[in-house]
Amino acid sequence: MKPQALFLLPPGWNALGADSFSSAVYDALLEGRDRYAPEAIDYFVGFRPPPGFLKSLPKLKAVISLGAGVDGFLQDPDYPKAVPLVRSVDPNLAIQMGEYVVMHALMIHRHQRFFDAAQAEHQWRQRMLTRNAADIRVGILGLGTIGAHIAAKLQAFDFQTLGWSRSRKEAPGVKSFAGAGELPAFLSQCDILVCVLPLTPDTRGILNSALFAQLPQGAYVINVARGAHLIEADLIAALDSGHLAGAVLDVFQTEPLPPDSPIWRHPKITATPHIAGITEPRSALAYVEDCIRRAEAGQPLPNVVNVARGY
Ligand code: NAP
Repeated sequence: MKPQALFLLPPGWNALGADSFSSAVYDALLEGRDRYAPEAIDYFVGFRPPPGFLKSLPKLKAVISLGAGVDGFLQDPDYPKAVPLVRSVDPNLAIQMGEYVVMHALMIHRHQRFFDAAQAEHQWRQRMLTRNAADIRVGILGLGTIGAHIAAKLQAFDFQTLGWSRSRKEAPGVKSFAGAGELPAFLSQCDILVCVLPLTPDTRGILNSALFAQLPQGAYVINVARGAHLIEADLIAALDSGHLAGAVLDVFQTEPLPPDSPIWRHPKITATPHIAGITEPRSALAYVEDCIRRAEAGQPLPNVVNVARGY
């Protein structure tokens, strides 16, 4: 008999045909579509289950996240901590995130928003480059799987790269800073700061006034991690005071970003609707199948989250 995997689909996955979920390794059940006995479910697959939902599945062998970040699971006070939590590690996701950050770093460097504004007014306004990409230091908060990939892609365009993580890294060409003690030295050298940290109790609200004050005058901030990393009012104050020159936000405290949010109309903010990296269903389902195959064969699961650490 095959094990049973219960899927709770993220928005956008509902368009997938039922066949997409069939597998030789497990029987797939879709929450909201199929009837199931909670005690018969072996694996849960999803992104942000409602609080308390996983507690209602008493015999889980593993939980598989369809996203790289697992904050949506661990914020549930009833999350069953003894059940292994596997996070998605998909090369396609890192590739997409790298594209997003490189594109915005280049748009900042090449003054693209200035030219967009000029075009909107039908104005032929030239503007010289003030420096080369090789003179711009891009700092990555969270030099993990995605952060290291982003750094490598930025280097291909000659940007200088530095990174901050909990432990020291040996990523090629990246100046590594580790731990809270080295954060001020790291921040003082970031012309563009990219946040790609996991959301944990230690990193919630990290993008705040005190941090912005440690960035060089005229720095930019790109947040592609989670909305709760950023204190939005602090960012707007730092932009309005002229200390920060601009920000690119893909994630927000409230998603979808409410229509009356000042972020939409702020002249120094570029906002996108949480699309920097989108899990691709086919590769995610292949990953799920591989995880369950391994678990059923008694092999170790890949990318198991350290629940106490939060990532
Ligand atoms: P990862 O491989 O686990 O890397 C996380 C990095 O953050 C590690 O280098 C870790 O340091 C560092 N870190 C964690 N807590 C820290 C702390 N308190 N102080 C200093 N460094 C800390 O994760 P990933 O796969 O790169 O993903 C990162 C995040 O990106 C996800 O959690 C998710 O929230 C976000 N994301 C967003 C999108 C989007 O579309 N916007 C898409 C995918 C992912 P160590 O290496 O020393 O442990």
